[in-house]
Amino acid sequence: MKAGGKIGVVVTGGTIGMQAGDAGLAPAAGLAARLRETLCAHGRRDVGPFVELAPLIDSANAGPEFWVRVAAAVVSLVEESDCRGVLVLHGTDTMAYTAAGLAFLLLGLPVPVVLTGAMHPIGVAGSDGWDNLSGALDLLAGGPPAGITVYFAGRQIPAVHCSKWRTRTTDAFTRTLRPTSDGPAPAQPPWSYRKLVAPARVAVLPLHPGFEPTALEALVAAGVPGCVLECYGSGTAPVADLRFIAALELARSRNTVVVATSQCPEGAVAFGHYATDHRLKTAGVVSGGGMTREVALAKLGILLGAGLPAAACRDWMGVSVLGEI
Ligand code: ASP
Repeated sequence: MKAGGKIGVVVTGGTIGMQAGDAGLAPAAGLAARLRETLCAHGRRDVGPFVELAPLIDSANAGPEFWVRVAAAVVSLVEESDCRGVLVLHGTDTMAYTAAGLAFLLLGLPVPVVLTGAMHPIGVAGSDGWDNLSGALDLLAGGPPAGITVYFAGRQIPAVHCSKWRTRTTDAFTRTLRPTSDGPAPAQPPWSYRKLVAPARVAVLPLHPGFEPTALEALVAAGVPGCVLECYGSGTAPVADLRFIAALELARSRNTVVVATSQCPEGAVAFGHYATDHRLKTAGVVSGGGMTREVALAKLGILLGAGLPAAACRDWMGVSVLGEI
């Protein structure tokens, strides 16, 4: 952790700073200034500078390009303002995706980054906003190790194991229980926070009984460079459908990287158990192990965005960079 320095804040939007309008809750500009005042009034002198992204958004509108804007704001707080940690305020709907994106984009960043938000706007009766905000700042003030964490409802969840799980209670996030392996990557990944990658836009396709292979074919034909294929159980798929296999072969021939993950919330892909998953492997599909959808999407997009050839992307998808597989 960096000695000295303050805790920088990046405000991106989300319910925590929303106000009710005619169409429902919507972001209201000036959140950073309001928070600065409130924190000052509470005697909090270790926080700042604040960066408010414009416009503030409902996180349903966040995509990979938005992760890069957040990442750039974090890097500038660390490198130009010498912050020893950064808090990111974000909507809950896609916070786990942004956290996963930041975990890979900001690889090597020497300070901790914590994301939080709220299920109810800060300041309204019964809001969880203040508890999440002050808890996340306390966490950062304690000097946790570098890395990306979601703090919510009193829990710290590593970015690569985080999913939004609930919509009706304030404990909205869970630490996913997929089998994963810890340990650093055996080689130095060919990207880092020093030169932010522009992630490629990739797709997620969940398999289901009656899956229509033209969905995959259409993605490949449109030039989408990568696809997370959410398979059954430990990585099975309808391989008896020759049109499905043909779509996978087409993907391979066009260098579209297809990564298999498990649809089971506590599952992981383990190719080699069933003949069906063996067939996926021979069709060029790479195993995503225990990666969540959020992580597989972010990692694949960033690998492809880093300009790695399809074969190298497949290899890196199989390497545990942050204990995500
Ligand atoms: N729709 C909101 C958002 O993700 C939900 C929230 O923040 O809780 O921005």
